[in-house]
Amino acid sequence: MNGPSTEIINEIRTLRANLRRWQHSYYIEGTPEVSDLEFDRHFDRLLQLEEQYPSLKTEDSPTMRVGSDLSSDLPEVPHGIPVLSLDKAYSLEEVHSWIEKTIRNAGMDLSFGVEEKIDGVSVVLYYEEGVLKRGVTRGNGYVGNDVTANIRTIGSVPLSLSLPMTIAVRGEIFLPKGKFEELNRALDSLYANPRNLAAGTLRRVKSRDVAKVPLDIFSYEGFLDAGRGENLRALSGRGMPESQREMMDLLRDLGFKTNPRTLFFDNVSIQDLESYIRTSTEERAGLGYEIDGLVLKVNELKPREALGYTGHHPRWALAYKFESPEAASTVEQIDVQVGRTGRITPVARIRPVRVGGSTVSNVTLHNQDYVDILELAVGDKVAVSKRGDVIPAVERVLEKNEEGAPVWRMPGVCPACGTALRLVGAHHFCPNRLCPEQVKGRIRFFAAKDQMDIDSLGPETIDVLIGKGLVSSVADIYSFDAEVLGSEPGFGQKKIALMKKGIEESAGRPYERVLPSLGIPDLGQKMTELLIDAGIDNVDQLLDIASRHDTGALTAIHGIGEKTAESVIAELNTPEVRTLIRRLKEAGLSFSARPRQEEGIPQIFKGTVWCVTGSFQSFNPRSKAMDEVKKRGGKAVSAVSGNTTHLLAGEGAGTKLSRAQQLGIPVITEEKFKDILAQGAWS
Ligand SMILES: [Zn+2]
Repeated sequence: MNGPSTEIINEIRTLRANLRRWQHSYYIEGTPEVSDLEFDRHFDRLLQLEEQYPSLKTEDSPTMRVGSDLSSDLPEVPHGIPVLSLDKAYSLEEVHSWIEKTIRNAGMDLSFGVEEKIDGVSVVLYYEEGVLKRGVTRGNGYVGNDVTANIRTIGSVPLSLSLPMTIAVRGEIFLPKGKFEELNRALDSLYANPRNLAAGTLRRVKSRDVAKVPLDIFSYEGFLDAGRGENLRALSGRGMPESQREMMDLLRDLGFKTNPRTLFFDNVSIQDLESYIRTSTEERAGLGYEIDGLVLKVNELKPREALGYTGHHPRWALAYKFESPEAASTVEQIDVQVGRTGRITPVARIRPVRVGGSTVSNVTLHNQDYVDILELAVGDKVAVSKRGDVIPAVERVLEKNEEGAPVWRMPGVCPACGTALRLVGAHHFCPNRLCPEQVKGRIRFFAAKDQMDIDSLGPETIDVLIGKGLVSSVADIYSFDAEVLGSEPGFGQKKIALMKKGIEESAGRPYERVLPSLGIPDLGQKMTELLIDAGIDNVDQLLDIASRHDTGALTAIHGIGEKTAESVIAELNTPEVRTLIRRLKEAGLSFSARPRQEEGIPQIFKGTVWCVTGSFQSFNPRSKAMDEVKKRGGKAVSAVSGNTTHLLAGEGAGTKLSRAQQLGIPVITEEKFKDILAQGAWS
């Protein structure tokens, strides 16, 4: 084999130099120098040469950014510099007294830098002779996880520096806000905020997956070995930085991305600070990234050494935290819940705490991955958030438990039935269909307001019925002897009569309600409607399609995909579902859709598309209003779009109302709607 020629070596060198310059101008300066096409052409050529001559590959080559398909296990490594957290202040008074105290302790005039506290993932980047060697998460401050392969994929992390320096650099990795929602939707809205998504991404085992997420970084602190001052002078002709400001200049010259909004105050007055904090708070929502406060630092590096450290924090820096819809609490216990589909969900039982206007004591943790991202253990002090209508979330661990409890692990078996759990995708499942918790979940689901809406058959009543052995499947609801309950505390004759009436009434619900209430995964209200609209309007037809494994009959319907069709057919072929349908049929439930015209209701809404939002006096749940629309030939949709012709708005209508107003869609009140229904015509 011939080695690479000088020509090849020179070509590779030129390609790398160009690509590096272009990446820097694109990711760090935000001013692309060349077209994507031009960039890709050079990039592909370099990839090709490196494949041909593997001996010429280097760890700082721009090609390293694409990541790898190999799994890395993120080993723990010790930090080479102290990685401490900051002391915190929550009021301007605290900030003021900290500044006075710090100046007094330093015994000299000081200037201060104020930077944004990025709500991201703190990392340290270690460079040797100008080449990125390691990227390590903050961890506990002494030991972190080696995430080098993942960090290399981040465009704004330089793989090599403009000077062959040995330096450790602290930075905050974040996911731009605009990208969060889009990505989170694709991930089944697992993450409460951009920080958690960034942290989860950084812990992915395959760097190629990380490369797909547009993570970014601001670098904010450099640590040079004091003994290397001569080295720096020899390399660049400049002396060691003597202030934070000079350090930031050096970092920028070396190729790092720093936050341009960092300010330095020579004589910081509380008025200046106050106005800066006020502006920051106002501008916060408009930033492309999340910040949760500001950081004040002594600018001069010499006095920093003299001020030193407490056990936990540097004395020369302070974090000023914004108020947030967050509260601190302690995780007392982590339970697992078994859903009606067998999905196992860990739930944190926290000490009750007021947050976002309500008291929170249970917080879902979604799955094991989520717990791992938080590195959460029982006994940990955590920040809990509740933003608007969003379900409460554990944002982060504030303080680890003192007992040394390890990160929580999913049990190996189902807590309800003892069956070994199975991992499917990100979630654990109990595969036992007869698992008592799943049965209970299915019965509760069937009877719930949004499904069959059975009066006087709430969760507690169902628990009693199951406990007494009266009901052990959904079908039993229509056959058990309620009179037996006469001797049960809380079950007077009146309650029993109401329950019987509720059950009897529910037996008359239309097919459109019955089918989704069976709780077959993917076969919800929307799919039921699609099926009926496509003419598959009774259960026998559906079971026949399932018996023949005719997925084509379902995928032919716009809106039903291959995966959904497969899963629904598999479910419909299980003996459990077949038995359930047979028994419910025997109980007299409706298993075919009534032709809408035959009901004799004038089709006054024909050709209209309604979105229903808010809450109503006469239509609770609001799906009842949607039923009225559909009965009269109209279509009901869940989101306002250009196709929507009417918005039915109840109490507390929010974004859908404003969107409809923007689009000029007529808004109908509950009163007006009831008038239309009563008159059977538009007035
Ligand atoms: Zn189970």
